[in-house]
Amino acid sequence: MLTLLRRATLFAGAAALVLPATRKVAAQSAPVLPGSVVVDPSYPFVLPPLPYAAAANEPSIDAQTMELHHDKHHAAYVANLNAAVNDHPQVAAMPLTHMLAKLNELPDTIRTAVRNNGGGHAWHSMFWTVMGGKGGDPDGDVAAAIARDFGSFAQMKSDFNKAGLGQFGSGWAVVLVDASGKLSLGARPNQDSPLMDGKRVLLGNDIWEHAYYLKYQNRRADYLAAWWNVVNWPVVAERYKAATAATLAI
Ligand code: MN
Repeated sequence: MLTLLRRATLFAGAAALVLPATRKVAAQSAPVLPGSVVVDPSYPFVLPPLPYAAAANEPSIDAQTMELHHDKHHAAYVANLNAAVNDHPQVAAMPLTHMLAKLNELPDTIRTAVRNNGGGHAWHSMFWTVMGGKGGDPDGDVAAAIARDFGSFAQMKSDFNKAGLGQFGSGWAVVLVDASGKLSLGARPNQDSPLMDGKRVLLGNDIWEHAYYLKYQNRRADYLAAWWNVVNWPVVAERYKAATAATLAI
């Protein structure tokens, strides 16, 4: 799978963000989950399509927010990231995970742009895929890991929402997963990606006001609570499996 992952990264374009090999394997034993594992993107970066209709997360997340968030905000991160690395071929040759992990080695003239826009591209590429689901309770290996590392799913949700509510200003609430499958909670400011620290995201929620303000205004807690209604646990399970196989890129 590692070889196939590397091969897949050679192709530019939205289609390359979905790993064909994973979908084929998944089709033999489980329903196909398009977009569930995101391949490490590279220059020229492209905006991955939403893997569902903009209204798919109604009523928890309204369609207009989804459209603006994806078509304007995420698109801008992609365009700005391309613009930042366009005149730096050595940086442009790196996959996104490498750029973020080696941020301190990048030219200082583009470091902040890559941090913000590369981080934004990585975060949102994950974000769309872990939504569009039915919420409810996780099952299988993910549920077992949550029970082991947080005590219960209810406890994890409560701690996650608290982390999201406590993040001053813009940022992300996140469940991190390491290669052994161990989970931990955190929050990050702005578009700072855990990939900067070599860490991997199991799932994360965008707590920038652009993610919720049209429907929830200042009620971030209500947004955080409602977001769980649309979490796509089968996709999260695929991400968990990839993380423990060391094939989870973004
Ligand atoms: Mn966002």
